[in-house]
Amino acid sequence: MSVWDDVVGQPDAVGTLRRAATDPAAMTHAWLLTGPPGSGRSVAARAFAAALQCTGTDGETGGCGRCHACTTTLAGTHPDLTVVATDKVVITVAEVRDLIMTSARTPSSGRYRVIVVEDADRMAERTTNVLLKAIEEPPPHTVWVLCAPSAQDVLPTIRSRCRGVVLRVPPARDVADLLVRRDGIDPAVALTAARAAQSHVGLARRLARDADARERRDAVLEIARRIRGVGDAVLAAGELVDVAKAEALAATAERDAVEKAELMRALGVQDGDTLPPRLRSQLKQLEDDQKRRATRRQRDVLDRSMVDLLSLYRDVLVVQLGATVDLVNAEHDGAVRALAADSTPEQTIRRMDAIGVARERLEGNVAPLLALEAMAVALRPQG
Ligand SMILES: [Zn+2]
Repeated sequence: MSVWDDVVGQPDAVGTLRRAATDPAAMTHAWLLTGPPGSGRSVAARAFAAALQCTGTDGETGGCGRCHACTTTLAGTHPDLTVVATDKVVITVAEVRDLIMTSARTPSSGRYRVIVVEDADRMAERTTNVLLKAIEEPPPHTVWVLCAPSAQDVLPTIRSRCRGVVLRVPPARDVADLLVRRDGIDPAVALTAARAAQSHVGLARRLARDADARERRDAVLEIARRIRGVGDAVLAAGELVDVAKAEALAATAERDAVEKAELMRALGVQDGDTLPPRLRSQLKQLEDDQKRRATRRQRDVLDRSMVDLLSLYRDVLVVQLGATVDLVNAEHDGAVRALAADSTPEQTIRRMDAIGVARERLEGNVAPLLALEAMAVALRPQG
């Protein structure tokens, strides 16, 4: 085994990173790891960090996966590793200043001080400028690993100072193998989930393990067949938004409560006490952050639903064009064929365009219900 085992379907990226970790001549001190959501950016970043720290077992270095440095880095407890994994919408200037201070310190026991920023695209321009100098001339023992969906998501000034490594969408079969090997999932279930998740590793795992998640996805796909007229379309749009809201709430509620309790404790307020007015702004700030997080989550869930719908129409088009490629939704074969028989390829493409427009609107902060209603209406059968 090695630290690279869980970085699935990325031979080129692994090759580059592994060389850098073992050959000082191939080393760079600022990296930009890019790849679509679910391609395993943060897994690759951690594996790279472990490979950098690896002290080796039986002469095997560069991420043996067995030495203390490897295991603690992968577990996130290595003292010379800092990972910024943010659920907030933005990374603040104060957070980046702290990181820069950390990055200047000599490693306490490891070979390098490694700073991983998982969502480098969530930095405002001003914050990025604070970071620039630090990544341009880092101390020799410091390595920055920035992650983002694509190079275009970070400012050109950052891009030009980092060495880029691009992750691709891994083949569904590789993702399925990982689920079988790592999570002990049944091979057939793993492959169906990997295809349905379009190789998004985290999502595939959730679909494979969580029957509710599979049911929610099926319900989303059902919508394509249920919409017969404008009335159905409006109803369906409302349902999609409600489901996303409920899912976002379920995902964030528990954590919100814990954070609030921690803040109250830090402020020295007992359970049931009223908060003194001078401390209220602190609570307000936390609540604002939490609200933003819930909104973001809701939009992420909605976007995922639309990607699922898109995959269904993609399958419809595959059937209509008689292409010999695998269906993403093989288990919805019946629905795919019925839709294919009921429409023309041109209509399918128009429907896919309507979903694309809705995704863009959502990204541009249009009210979710408005964006989805327009989309759903465009999905109804056309004469
Ligand atoms: Zn090791």
